[in-house]
Amino acid sequence: MTAHQQTQQLLDFIDTSPSPSHVINTIETLLAAFSFIKLDETEQWTLQASGRYYVVRDDSSIIIFVQGQKPLVDTGFKLIGAHTDSPGLRIKPNAATSTDGLLRLGVEVYGGPILATFADRDLSLAGRVSYKNEQGTITSQLVKCDKPLLRLPNLAIHLNRTVNEDGLKLHKQQELPLILTHLTEEQLPAAYFANWLQQQLNIEAKRVLSWDLAVYDTQKGVFWGADNEFYADSQLDNLASCHAALMALLDERVLTTDNTLVCAFFDHEEIGSSSNKGADGCFLTDVLGRIALATQTNAEDFLRALAKSFMISADMVHAYQPSFPLAYDPDHKVLVNQGPVIKVNANQRYSTSSGSEAVFAQCCEQAGVPYQKYANRNDLSCGSTIGSITSSRLGIQCVDVGNPLWAMHSIRESAGVEDHHFMIEVMKMFFSS
Ligand code: ZN
Repeated sequence: MTAHQQTQQLLDFIDTSPSPSHVINTIETLLAAFSFIKLDETEQWTLQASGRYYVVRDDSSIIIFVQGQKPLVDTGFKLIGAHTDSPGLRIKPNAATSTDGLLRLGVEVYGGPILATFADRDLSLAGRVSYKNEQGTITSQLVKCDKPLLRLPNLAIHLNRTVNEDGLKLHKQQELPLILTHLTEEQLPAAYFANWLQQQLNIEAKRVLSWDLAVYDTQKGVFWGADNEFYADSQLDNLASCHAALMALLDERVLTTDNTLVCAFFDHEEIGSSSNKGADGCFLTDVLGRIALATQTNAEDFLRALAKSFMISADMVHAYQPSFPLAYDPDHKVLVNQGPVIKVNANQRYSTSSGSEAVFAQCCEQAGVPYQKYANRNDLSCGSTIGSITSSRLGIQCVDVGNPLWAMHSIRESAGVEDHHFMIEVMKMFFSS
């Protein structure tokens, strides 16, 4: 498969996954084609050598694993971690309000998006709605409105004369509500929105109990550049890493390895990972422990397996943008389409050690893939990843890597076609070696 075909698959993956719950739904469809079995955390697990399994926690975090042919104590786990969430806007519980004949939806800022990029986009809604079914049981359903539905219109430059000097500043409480429709005087905003939601779900609105609804951009992913060497879409941070890891795992050669392979994709990374399904929760610890229990691995052998394990924490990294040279350490610029990046931070915002850095570099060399190294400017604070959290919880050796990305946390991010291919290749090498 060519790099462009692999990247087209990534764009399709993102365009069907506008919320973390949709990401899981898309992944489950992919896994079904490879005969993966879904495990339920409330049931007893029976695992078989070479078996293919996955566990979903609360619809938006997933751990996928392939049981190795050799005992855990001999191989340890080979893990790749990434996250399913992206920063953006989420619909508040009492969202619908009426202002001067316009129904607007109140939103909460989720994580750290570049808010100005949400203005003048063809926005819509997607997520999960919980309701009481006819038997009185709480059930949930995914909802995705495919058409442009909502808008955050910019202020005309005539009314905001310094916008090009000062940038677009949006007050998070007053200026983010999104326009949905006109209302007549008789129409009540809450009833109108409840009725709209009912039509999307095909259920009665009075039975809707709650929702997780994300605002997303309906514009599909595209290739751009003179030779289509770049691509743009929303949520590249971090669905590009989830997709690369999945494509590496679902390679027939990789699936028959001796090693126990794990892909762990967590929700809530953008808000600090602290939740029952976040990387700072117990999800991964629980699942690895249960794999050990189900394979009759005793406590000491489980700890020995962890000590032999290795994790790649994959997340995107800031590509050099030549219009803003002062934002980067001049000796650690990373360039689009020049290969995956190893992220290094002496203060352990990234989990990389010289040992794990060397392991990843060697994987790249074995796969014939170029690689780059990134360190932040000393006078800018460094973002964090799930790598340092999971490696400190589990004691597993870990490296933080990622592909170069322009405009991280914009609603429209850009990256390089070759890099996506390179990342898949090096991840395949890691899993199969
Ligand atoms: Zn990220």
